[in-house]
Amino acid sequence: MKKGHGGCGGPGDEEAGKTGMLMKRWGILRGEQDNLLKDLKESAVSCEKLGKKYGVSRQAIYAFSKSQEIKRPLKPRGHQTKECRLCQKLIQISKKPHSEFISFQTIRKETGTSRGKYYYHLQTLRNGGLVNEKFGRLRSIRAEKAYVIYTLRIDSRTAQ
Ligand SMILES: [Zn+2]
Repeated sequence: MKKGHGGCGGPGDEEAGKTGMLMKRWGILRGEQDNLLKDLKESAVSCEKLGKKYGVSRQAIYAFSKSQEIKRPLKPRGHQTKECRLCQKLIQISKKPHSEFISFQTIRKETGTSRGKYYYHLQTLRNGGLVNEKFGRLRSIRAEKAYVIYTLRIDSRTAQ
């Protein structure tokens, strides 16, 4: 295998057998399997870095994640919440009153983002505790409209 290019590199030899056997073959410690699975599923840390952490090659990490059919989270290059315009915009929207009742269609429209991008940035913000857990989860535009009407009534009542 060629060295020196980024990412996880090419195909490993994955003839999926029993996980235990695979772990042994790749030199990943049994006890660390769960931690590795978690890292692969929940972080965008590169296979190379994970390999260093678990004391195996990045090819082994790659082959393992393939055999487990793990979908790695996408990592936009050099993403920094503070410098990310989308994240800042999402935070701004989330600070509006009753923002948990803004549907994600509306949020995506306002920010002009694709679905995948939207979820990635939103998840990053949730993980960092920068937006409410409920923010951006509402799927129904109908529910949003109903809620807007409802809150407008409440607000006009309390204003009197
Ligand atoms: Zn962002």
